[in-house]
Amino acid sequence: MEKIAEYNGNKINYIIYKKKIKNMYIHVNEDKVYVSVPINTNDKIIDKFVNSKLKWIFNNLEKYKLIKKNNIENKNSIRIFSNWYKIQIEYTNSDINFKVDMKNMIVLIYLPILYKSENKEGLDNILNIVKQEIYKFMLSDVVKELIFKYEKLTGLHVNKCSLKFMKSAWGRCTSNRNISINTELAKYSKRAIESVVLHEMCHIKYMNHSKAYWQYLKSFMPDYDIVKEELNKKYI
Ligand SMILES: [Zn+2]
Repeated sequence: MEKIAEYNGNKINYIIYKKKIKNMYIHVNEDKVYVSVPINTNDKIIDKFVNSKLKWIFNNLEKYKLIKKNNIENKNSIRIFSNWYKIQIEYTNSDINFKVDMKNMIVLIYLPILYKSENKEGLDNILNIVKQEIYKFMLSDVVKELIFKYEKLTGLHVNKCSLKFMKSAWGRCTSNRNISINTELAKYSKRAIESVVLHEMCHIKYMNHSKAYWQYLKSFMPDYDIVKEELNKKYI
């Protein structure tokens, strides 16, 4: 069900999902607002809940607009944790390196001077390799922390976790409790990354997608289905 709220003269559309959950949740994904509520919640309570969160919703929607604008303005950008960072290339005498400036949303890429004579295609190839390294670097701590969090919550143990580019899966889990996480995930929100780490870790307990598996997973992330929707969008 779609509804409209107003905040400081701005219309905010939101979609209500009634689900088998205990609490109400709001999730802002780019320009969409999703409100998940327990099945029997009456409209007045939903309205009140949404109204109490309007400032937060509005700020998130504005942030997305700004990010979108930045993206159009700077074709040369890289997406990290659902934000676009501008890429600046500097030619130096040292090896290939990079620095992520989170505050100014800039990624500095240092290239040896000899690359200055590369044609566009050659430079794009080099940048794609560096981007993979940046994704790995950014994901590494986030994934480590998430594994730690869910090892404590579930009592399960991950044997080994590796980050690698995968074409057809966000993650994998083997019967030896080894987990792989797709480096492409660095482009998405930390919550979306969390949903993948949790998904793979739950396979340590259930090596299938049975009812019991989903029940177990959703006991840790009730809004899993909504969080996962973000991963349907593709980014370069
Ligand atoms: Zn799975």
